[in-house]
Amino acid sequence: MLAGPTAVGKGTVSADLRARYPHIWLSVSATTRDPRPGEIDGVHYRFLGPEAFAGAVAAGEFLEWAVVHGRNSYGTLRAPVEEKLAAGEPVVLEIDLQGARQVRAAMPEARFVFLAPPSWDELVRRLVGRGTEGPEERERRLATAKVELAAAAEFDHVIVNDDVQRATDELVRVIHGEDG
Ligand code: 5GP
Repeated sequence: MLAGPTAVGKGTVSADLRARYPHIWLSVSATTRDPRPGEIDGVHYRFLGPEAFAGAVAAGEFLEWAVVHGRNSYGTLRAPVEEKLAAGEPVVLEIDLQGARQVRAAMPEARFVFLAPPSWDELVRRLVGRGTEGPEERERRLATAKVELAAAAEFDHVIVNDDVQRATDELVRVIHGEDG
């Protein structure tokens, strides 16, 4: 389970994981937010409308779900995760803090990894540099990030994302239980 504040590079680490460690299955979350340029339905997210998302919630299809940044809903569909786990395949969920807490309650044996920025200033720099959010959305995300950073101690491992490939390699060692 990989969590961490906005713009810390969870998406970049996930992409690196997908590219270099294809045997590790990365769960595709459902979301009500609109796709960003380049994002593909079914690959980066399942883009659901609010009604379809609410339907899946009502049907109990989510392992966890949350409203993130006070705006859109995001959730992990239960069936594909359970399928992979039953087959003995490693699974990575990239989710927010609220979702991590729900999974911790449902699957206490899961490992919880927090991806941290090298510093607060660097986090702000990455969020601004990404340029995908307007000033209002940026402020909203930074407010969430403050809360999330304060919760790092709840996690089993904290990985500092100073270098993407190094962080990914560390994550893989944790997944394979080679972290001591
Ligand atoms: P973004 O909109 O930048 O892709 O993602 C925003 C936030 O949603 C990130 O912090 C990410 O971890 C979180 N998120 C993505 N997928 C899920 C999910 O399936 N469940 C939960 N709880 N959070 C998610």
